[in-house]
Amino acid sequence: MTDATRVLVLNSGSSSVKYQLIEMTDGSRPASGLVERIGEPGDCPDHTAALDLVADELAARGLGLDSPQLAAIGHRAVHGGTRFTAPTLITDQVVQAMRELIPLAPLHNPANITGIEIARKLRPDLPQVAVFDTAFHATMPESAARYAIDTATADRYSVRRYGFHGTSHQYVSRRTAELLGKSPEAVNVIVLHLGNGASAAAVAGGRCVDTSMGLTPLEGLVMGTRSGDLDPAILLHLHRVGGLSVDEIDTLLNRRSGLAGLCGDNDMREITRRIAEGDEQARLAFDIYVHRLRKYLGGYYAVLGRVDAIAFTAGVGENAVPVREAALAGLEDLGIDLDHALNQVRSTEPRLISTPTSRVAVAVVPTDEELEIAQQTFGLVRRIQSA
Ligand code: AMP
Repeated sequence: MTDATRVLVLNSGSSSVKYQLIEMTDGSRPASGLVERIGEPGDCPDHTAALDLVADELAARGLGLDSPQLAAIGHRAVHGGTRFTAPTLITDQVVQAMRELIPLAPLHNPANITGIEIARKLRPDLPQVAVFDTAFHATMPESAARYAIDTATADRYSVRRYGFHGTSHQYVSRRTAELLGKSPEAVNVIVLHLGNGASAAAVAGGRCVDTSMGLTPLEGLVMGTRSGDLDPAILLHLHRVGGLSVDEIDTLLNRRSGLAGLCGDNDMREITRRIAEGDEQARLAFDIYVHRLRKYLGGYYAVLGRVDAIAFTAGVGENAVPVREAALAGLEDLGIDLDHALNQVRSTEPRLISTPTSRVAVAVVPTDEELEIAQQTFGLVRRIQSA
């Protein structure tokens, strides 16, 4: 066996490349960084230049891509369709299959693929693994994954619910089980990933059985700038009566909706500050956000039947005390009993914020998608090497 125990995690987005070098023996990060504004005038011209910059930064710290300690590169990939349901060793065929999935994720998959192709040119001999945002949700039963539209049409255009944030939901549900001192197989968890994008997942015994995002990351909860659920006929109405084009509706729902559309701010810190000043518009935006969250919470409670824990994660979930408070208020009859003092405590550690007698544990579990990608990458590479 080699002593290569580090994984470089690359998240190549449309205008940025994030990287973390993770030491797998202790989870430490010898290096991490971000190249932003790719393609903007005066900044990094393209993804090739961005990855060269990452390689240079690593080399300058003696941690270059040629380091013998580097075991693999793990790539965050957004859409795996029905084809990729597990971490996947990247080959030419895999890249081609990812290309065929571009229509399902036109904003994300091309950038992911570009990052992969450049990294493979830089280190063609090194195992590189794609970890898909959709993969964890592949265990959803058809009853949860299918939309109630004509089956032939749905199949023809791959219209079904895929779900996103899977890496985060997987990591957080497992960490929540650990926090309870149980194995993931033994617990049912509702994970609320509340960041700028937001989604909920119902996880039964470590397997996802439902999640709020669907064909695209637009469905479900109210988000920073995305609408989440709405009557699909609204799109027809806006087109037929309002004369909005498909692109205008796309922009409206993805960029000018959610909290930003409702009150002009997409940052929960700003919204709670405005509420404290008596701002009614901010109050209503907050109430709509929380109402939708509670609908999913109740829905997933019924889907799971028995809930052992509710876990809050991502920017809002980890930090916004009033959101957690409002989301769970008055649910004592469902066995959910928030400890209001513990809910106020600021910490970066996974922690319980329910009372000791609460039948359903409530947890705050900071997400770590990079660590999850690194672990899945390292695990796969080890299995292949020892096979
Ligand atoms: P993420 O996408 O996980 O990085 O989450 C980003 C969002 O988290 C921001 O847009 C804010 O709405 C929210 N956020 C971050 N820090 C705080 C905080 N201290 N209090 C409330 N919300 C926060």
